Amino acid sequence: MRTANELMTMMRERGLRVTPQRMCIVDHLVENAAHPTVESLFEATRVQMPTISLKTVYQTVHDLEGLGEVALLDVGTGSVRVDPNVEDAHHHLICTGCGKVRDVLVDVGSVRIPAREKRGFTVADVEVNFRGVCDECATG
Ligand SMILES: [Zn+2]
Ligand SMILES: [Zn+2]
Repeated sequence: MRTANELMTMMRERGLRVTPQRMCIVDHLVENAAHPTVESLFEATRVQMPTISLKTVYQTVHDLEGLGEVALLDVGTGSVRVDPNVEDAHHHLICTGCGKVRDVLVDVGSVRIPAREKRGFTVADVEVNFRGVCDECATG
């Protein structure tokens, strides 16, 4: 994901709305490794922007996805997660206790499907979710 200033310029150029609410959402996403849910982004931005709506948060993250600046993930935690790391090909560690999601940079390029298992598919992408419990859940 680009810097907040670069993103604002990019959004304006594409004719997308740039408002203080939207800037606040972008600020919360830049360098955010927590893969926040849309709901948690809404709660976080509402502290600074009491008039912000959940709809605005949804629209903004979808616009950012359209620009290729965030990925929206469904990793089975029940909510869409917003991932600002679109630069590094990566996979995810997912805590089955609290739903925490973290990036994991591991090479799965050597994973191959045997020819008889391919069922005629041409595979373009591999996504691996590592599930387990985080350190907080393990000790708590
Ligand atoms: Zn946990
Ligand atoms: Zn990620």
